[in-house]
Amino acid sequence: MNRPSPLQEILEDALSEKGVRLWVKRDDLLHPEISGNKWRKLKYNLLEARRLGYKILLTFGGAYSNHIAAVAAAGKEFGFATIGIIRGGQILPRNPTLSFAEHCGMRLQFITRTTYRKKDQPGFLESLKTRFGDFYLLPEGGTNALALRGCAEIIDELESQTDLLPDYICVCCGTGGTAAGLVAGLNGRQHMMGFSVLKGSFLKTEVASFLENYGVTFQNWSVETSYHFGGYAKFRPELIDFINDFRQKFDIPLDPIYTGKMFFGIFDMIKKGRFQKGTTLLAIHTGGLQGIEGFNARFGNLIVTHKSNS
Ligand SMILES: *Cc1c(COP(=O)(O)O)cnc(C)c1O
Repeated sequence: MNRPSPLQEILEDALSEKGVRLWVKRDDLLHPEISGNKWRKLKYNLLEARRLGYKILLTFGGAYSNHIAAVAAAGKEFGFATIGIIRGGQILPRNPTLSFAEHCGMRLQFITRTTYRKKDQPGFLESLKTRFGDFYLLPEGGTNALALRGCAEIIDELESQTDLLPDYICVCCGTGGTAAGLVAGLNGRQHMMGFSVLKGSFLKTEVASFLENYGVTFQNWSVETSYHFGGYAKFRPELIDFINDFRQKFDIPLDPIYTGKMFFGIFDMIKKGRFQKGTTLLAIHTGGLQGIEGFNARFGNLIVTHKSNS
C-alpha cells in the first residue's frame, strides 16, 4: 500500500563518543493523517473489514487519542463510516483531535469511565451493535493479531532497505502491540527494546501475551520501564527541552506522549554507557504528531512546532 518509510541517521557527538550509531525509521512520514504505527496496525484490519463486507468501523479511545484520529482519517480515505467511543464526558468545545475526527466524518459517542471499562464485554458490544448497526470492531489502541502482522512488516521493509539489521530495534509502548509485532517480525534475530510510556512493568506481561496469542515465543526483547516521566501523558521540563532540542538539531518532530519519551530514554542509556562500542540501534518513529496541538493547547505551547533559523 505504501513506499518504505525513510531511514535517517542521527549524527550527534554524544553518540559517536560512545561508538554507537542510531537510525530512525520515519514511520511518521508514512501518511499525512494516518500516521506511524497506527497505519501499520490498521492496514490488515481495513483489508479484513472490506473483505468481510463491513461498512462501519467502531473503536474506542481517549479524547486525545492518535488511534481515534487515525481511524477517522482511514475511514474517510477508504470509504468506511466510523464511530469513536470516547472515554470520559462530553468535550465542548472539541479539542483538536476530536475536531479533526469529526471533520473526517467520525461519529463520536462519549461514555463515562465506568461504562468504558466494559468495552471488551460481549453484552456491551451487542448493545452498541443495536444502536449503531453491524460494525467491524477495532479494539482500543488498534491492537489485535492483524495489527501485529502489520507491525511485523516493518522488519521486512527494513530488510529491503539495509544489508544488515541493526542490533537493537527500539519502539515506544502504549498497549505493546507494535512492540510485539516487531518481535514477531524479527523472528528470533537481534533485540527489540520497548520503552513504556506508562508507569509500571505490566507491559512486559502484555507483550508476552500478545506474542503467545500470535502463536510465537521469543526471548530477544525487553521493555524499559524508567522513562515514563510519571505516567501516561505526564511530563517534566527536561522532556520538553529534549523534544525542542531534538527538533532544532535533527529536524525531526517528536511528540511528548510517546516518541519523545523513547528518544529521551535511548539518549540517556547511550550516555550512561549501556551499549557496547560498535552497537547499532534503530528507533521506529511511530508518529503521534497530531497530539502536539492538543497538548500545547492544554499546557501552554510548550512544544515548538517549527524549526527556527537562529
Ligand atoms: C499508539 C502509539 C504508540 C503505542 O503503540 P502500541 O502498539 O499501543 O504500543 C506509540 N507511539 C505512538 C506515536 C502512538 O500513537
